[in-house]
Amino acid sequence: MRQSALFSNTLREAPSDAEAASHQFMLRGGFIRQLAAGIYSYLPLGLRVLHKIEHIIRQELEHAGAQELLMPALQPTELWKESGRYSVYGPELMRLKDRHNREFALGPTHEEVITSLVKNEINSYRKLPVTLFQIQTKFRDERRPRYGLLRGREFMMKDAYSFDASWEGLDRSYKAMYEAYVRIFQRCGLVVKAVEADAGAIGGEGGTHEFMALADIGEDTIATCNACAYAANLEKAHSGSSSERRVSAQHGTVQKIETPDVRTVEQLAQYLAISSQAVMKTLIYAADGKPIAVVVRGDHEVNEIKLQNHLGVETLELADAQTTKAATGAPIGFVGPVGLNIPVLVDFAVLQMEAGVCGGNEVDAHYTNVVPGRDFSVEQAGDFRNVTAGDPCPHCAEGELQLMKGIEVGHVFKLGTKYSEALGARYLDANGREQTFIMGCYGIGVSRILSAIVEQSHDGRGIIWPQAVAPYHVHVIPVSVKDEAQMRIAHELYGLLRSRGIEALLDDRDERAGVKFNDSDLMGIPVRIVVGKDAGNGQVEYVDRRSNEKQALLLDDAIARILANVEGA
Ligand code: ATP
Ligand code: MG
Repeated sequence: MRQSALFSNTLREAPSDAEAASHQFMLRGGFIRQLAAGIYSYLPLGLRVLHKIEHIIRQELEHAGAQELLMPALQPTELWKESGRYSVYGPELMRLKDRHNREFALGPTHEEVITSLVKNEINSYRKLPVTLFQIQTKFRDERRPRYGLLRGREFMMKDAYSFDASWEGLDRSYKAMYEAYVRIFQRCGLVVKAVEADAGAIGGEGGTHEFMALADIGEDTIATCNACAYAANLEKAHSGSSSERRVSAQHGTVQKIETPDVRTVEQLAQYLAISSQAVMKTLIYAADGKPIAVVVRGDHEVNEIKLQNHLGVETLELADAQTTKAATGAPIGFVGPVGLNIPVLVDFAVLQMEAGVCGGNEVDAHYTNVVPGRDFSVEQAGDFRNVTAGDPCPHCAEGELQLMKGIEVGHVFKLGTKYSEALGARYLDANGREQTFIMGCYGIGVSRILSAIVEQSHDGRGIIWPQAVAPYHVHVIPVSVKDEAQMRIAHELYGLLRSRGIEALLDDRDERAGVKFNDSDLMGIPVRIVVGKDAGNGQVEYVDRRSNEKQALLLDDAIARILANVEGA
């Protein structure tokens, strides 16, 4: 491609609302343009990267035995009512009506459509197992679209669905997808960690993994062990701490103390000159509308997903002031577990406290010397908190957990029979009996991968694409288009590269060298060949975008090195 004809402009600055480095550089480098919040056009450079990622995904999934199809984005909402997700999905589902006033949704995912399709196409165990995938635009009216392609409202997803006749079959299909994902992300040049994730009511243990690209901008927190392979999303991670109750010899009776206007754990710790670890923090939740109390150590955070799974409720929300007052007699900030008449859930770490300080269930009062099990019931104990850095690993004896941020680029999930049951999708087994399909679903955020790669691979000057997904393999830059020798060599090189299947971008614009180099840095093509003053002697400069290492080479040697670089990718 000749750059003078390329449909793309680099920008000196990114708009001020572009916070993430990947968002800024993809706008500035001329890869994407915003149409509306969370909705983007891919310019030719961006589309080339997207296509390369799609190509890697297709190759690996087909290698794993999956077949590609393409389903409609427009879905009748009756299907969503049948599966029960119409109301659960909420405002994220984009809904619209046709001219006959029939309601449709723009697909955010395709469990319903694929299940109804397979229900009609497969009626015998002989056609199982099967894994089907598509690469398609998805629509989700995200509450907070942001960071460019990281969280869009219209985005590109690869979604796959497996159908099996047995749970062991599902395990095999799941494993094949998991392993394909590992190869896909590796080929894309991403540093990814597979973590255990929360499966909610379905899925079971080991039933779902998320693939996290490690990056500080990531919205997910993951816990990993510094000694073994344990890794889990914070929503799921548990600590290896003891769940035993620690009972000590003697503690005096509970004392009520006055704590005027002391509402937060920090204020209380400061007021009493104690550590926040000595505080029992009590929060009131409305669980399916009914109040419950949960007690965690003062320095810990409640994990609402664990709490909700334990309670098995549909909705869980922090109680408002009125509900809190009605349930405890106290305003928010002065609630404690002593003497409550609602269910009290106690986190394991609280059982480890011999005694502590908690709210007095009246304004401006707290209790000290509160002993779990003596002063309040610990019958409903469990793991209800987020792990913290330094917690012991739940899987090995030596390790400690550490926390890091990740971008979820992929997700594999054992669905079981949730959708096949709801939609009545059955086949006949070898004995002629009806059985329900056992399903798995597998997503990859194809457009999100672009951003994740840039988050992991950039410097102050721009993007550094890994060779396997770069928009072009090599950027050929004659320093001066007015210099005949330079232009002759540049064109000769460009032609030679193309004849060998190397994708080259030739900067034939009449611009200053500085401008060309800055643009080239921004675009991030991994190899740059500068055709400058030594062109007449058949010499060019080979520049590695990542290391900025420069080397003067004869034309043939430069070509050999480029070929090796591209073949190695
Ligand atoms: P998130 O927690 O980030 O909202 P999700 O759990 O809703 O993700 P899935 O429903 O599992 O995501 O979708 C499959 C994949 O699609 C995700 O792993 C992610 O990579 C990608 N994805 C999801 N939502 C978006 C979005 N708004 N923009 C871009 N990619 C997305
Ligand atoms: Mg989401």
